[in-house]
Amino acid sequence: MQEQGLYDTFGRKHNYLRISLTDACNLRCTYCMPDEKVIVTPSHKMMQVDEIVEIAKVFVSLGVNKIRLTGGEPLVRKDAKLIIQQLAKLPVELSISTNAVLVNEFIEDFKQANIRSVNVSLDTLNADDFLKITKRGEFEKIKQNLFLLVKEGFKVKLNMVVMKGINENAILDFIELTKDFALDARFIEFMPFSGNDWNREKVFTQTEMLQLIQTKYNVLKLEDELNDTAKKYKVPGHKGNFGFISTVSNPFCNTCNRLRLTADGKMKNCLFSEGETDLLNAYRNGINIEPLIIENLQAKKQALGGRFDFENIENRSMIKIGVKTKPLIMHNKFPLRR
Ligand code: SAM
Ligand code: SF4
Repeated sequence: MQEQGLYDTFGRKHNYLRISLTDACNLRCTYCMPDEKVIVTPSHKMMQVDEIVEIAKVFVSLGVNKIRLTGGEPLVRKDAKLIIQQLAKLPVELSISTNAVLVNEFIEDFKQANIRSVNVSLDTLNADDFLKITKRGEFEKIKQNLFLLVKEGFKVKLNMVVMKGINENAILDFIELTKDFALDARFIEFMPFSGNDWNREKVFTQTEMLQLIQTKYNVLKLEDELNDTAKKYKVPGHKGNFGFISTVSNPFCNTCNRLRLTADGKMKNCLFSEGETDLLNAYRNGINIEPLIIENLQAKKQALGGRFDFENIENRSMIKIGVKTKPLIMHNKFPLRR
């Protein structure tokens, strides 16, 4: 008999919820933010602190025991500290993904919330390249905050999006960094989202990355954990590890345990899913969201949200996973209570 929990129709158990706190950001990474002017969701359409907590509680009651805060940049939200404090009271392993610009202001809050794992996005160790990729001059601050997190004993995963012809050579700089710093560098294949000018030629695949690394280093394959998205390796003698997230060349959907909640309270069962369920509007109208969560999960496709044609993908940009895709369940008949 199947244990209790959030199972989809392929028998995958879902215990991990990624909550986007905002679609705003203090950087403009070319691969993430659409080129056109970003329209940030108005505050009243976003989940408020109590709504985030109450909706999260329902997921927890159904079996979620890991929550990661993301965005946009989660730490730009004015009430980020309060949200972290409140979610820390739930029986979950709480973690966060951040660009680290504001991390120094949050070290104590992370510690008090028992956040042990922090994912930091950084795509190069060269200040000029950083400015080209992010369109903002925050490189030194991020570097300092990255080292601060390591020094303070956080488990740091450093996420680099690798784009062919743009930053692939930074891979070797990050491997060198793992020599003295106990962090996990993770090299992510460039994924397609609306407005990010993706094409297959720009994808530097996991195989190409490994070949590049092996031109300079001997590497050792490490054992991967069951639901881990990264294939892990190590250079013997280095303090840190490295890994690849190969969503494009070799997706890891068969062990997926992730659910997503956008900053405006829509549930997505996959990063690439077309359908989404408006949990916030339902919650505001006093509707029990538990069956909606289960219904959404039952519609989860076996792989990549059922979309295998990356060339023609129309998806919310990463910051908006959050802007509109097809509703899975329509709750327009329940207007917002004012
Ligand atoms: N602002 C935070 C940050 O940068 O870590 C959290 C949100 S960001 C959208 C979450 C992760 O998505 C980051 O690691 C980022 O590098 C990754 N990401 C964004 N766009 C991507 C793309 N087109 N392909 C692959 N990864 C992407
Ligand atoms: Fe902002 Fe993170 Fe997207 Fe960069 S990857 S634009 S830091 S949300």
